[in-house]
Amino acid sequence: MPGIKCKCGNVIKFGEIPNSNEWLFISDVEYDKYSGNVDSEKLYMDLKSMLICQKCKRIWIYWNGYDNAPTPYKLDVDN
Ligand SMILES: [Zn+2]
Repeated sequence: MPGIKCKCGNVIKFGEIPNSNEWLFISDVEYDKYSGNVDSEKLYMDLKSMLICQKCKRIWIYWNGYDNAPTPYKLDVDN
C-alpha cells in the first residue's frame, strides 16, 4: 500500500518502516490486559493505527484493520 489520498489532495505515504506519518495507539481497556514484561509483537497486534496528513493535519484512523477503510477526523481550530 503506497499511500492514501487525503481529502485535501495530499497523499499520505504508507510504505516506510518506521512511518513518520503513522501513530499507534491502544484503548485503556485493551492495555489493561497487559502487565509485566510485554511481548512487543503481541502488543502490536492490539494496536490501532492512525495516519496524520502533514498538509491539513487531518487524521485517518484504522479502527478495523488495514482491510477496512480508515475514518477521517478533521482538525477543529479557528485560524
Ligand atoms: Zn490532508
